[in-house]
Amino acid sequence: ARAQSMEITEKPEVTYADIGGIDEQVREVREAVEQPLTEPEIFNEVGIDPPSGVLLYGPPGTGKTMLAKAVANETDATFIKMAGSELVRKFIGEGSRLVRDLFEMARERQPAIIFIDEIDAIATRRTESKTSGDAEVQRTMMQLLSEMDGFEARGEIRIIAATNRYDMLDRAILRPGRFDRLIEVPEPDRDGREQILGIHTRNMNIAADVDFADLADDTDGYSGADIESLATEAGMFAIRNERDEVRHQDFAEALEKIEDDDSSDVVSSA
Ligand code: ATP
Repeated sequence: ARAQSMEITEKPEVTYADIGGIDEQVREVREAVEQPLTEPEIFNEVGIDPPSGVLLYGPPGTGKTMLAKAVANETDATFIKMAGSELVRKFIGEGSRLVRDLFEMARERQPAIIFIDEIDAIATRRTESKTSGDAEVQRTMMQLLSEMDGFEARGEIRIIAATNRYDMLDRAILRPGRFDRLIEVPEPDRDGREQILGIHTRNMNIAADVDFADLADDTDGYSGADIESLATEAGMFAIRNERDEVRHQDFAEALEKIEDDDSSDVVSSA
């Protein structure tokens, strides 16, 4: 059960160079998570504790998981991921036990980065959800907070959580000593999109006529994950047209297809 619900990577391959358009967030994560691991003495000298936990929040597919993996890569830490939804269990005590397992695993493999995705699943405001009234979910959350209290702030385990639903979070988890550093990870702006396009096409055979500035203009509202799909789709159009080089036209067709798919989604759900 332990292995099923946790994703453990000795050293993730993602690096900061793979992340586009959120330089400020990269800087903040490095300061709050990486530096306490690599230069704990600085915090000692200044006489402050580093943040206990860092919460990344923002829309889906913007690079939150990538950020956590890149820190693990940079610090040679084990990356241990668990989804909040996995911690919501049927049987009494099961969620708390998984939380204990999670921290035990981190202690065995330290230095380690614990990443809890969808933290909202176990930390939703009481008024906004049926499940948050659930005593078992509350207990799981309390177990998580007590594990966080239990480890040395300057130690070799750092904890990062992520959510798409910041507004629904139980404010109790944001108190000092808990997830006390908040980093918003927004959708990329125009320049960010151009940077991300560059990242996701760097291994592609791109024709000279591809105008990335133009594509950045045309992808307003796209997340990093959406841009990755766009690049793959453009490659598929090149293959369909029996070319080994991806042209601007392929990107234009890919954009059209994605827009069409989106609007049919709207129709079918209406
Ligand atoms: P979710 O909230 O859905 O878990 P997330 O914010 O954790 O999403 P990631 O899992 O980090 O998103 O991103 C998904 C994929 O989208 C990445 O593997 C990457 O290919 C691409 N991607 C997302 N954001 C960026 C970015 N800022 N730069 C480059 N690629 C990105």
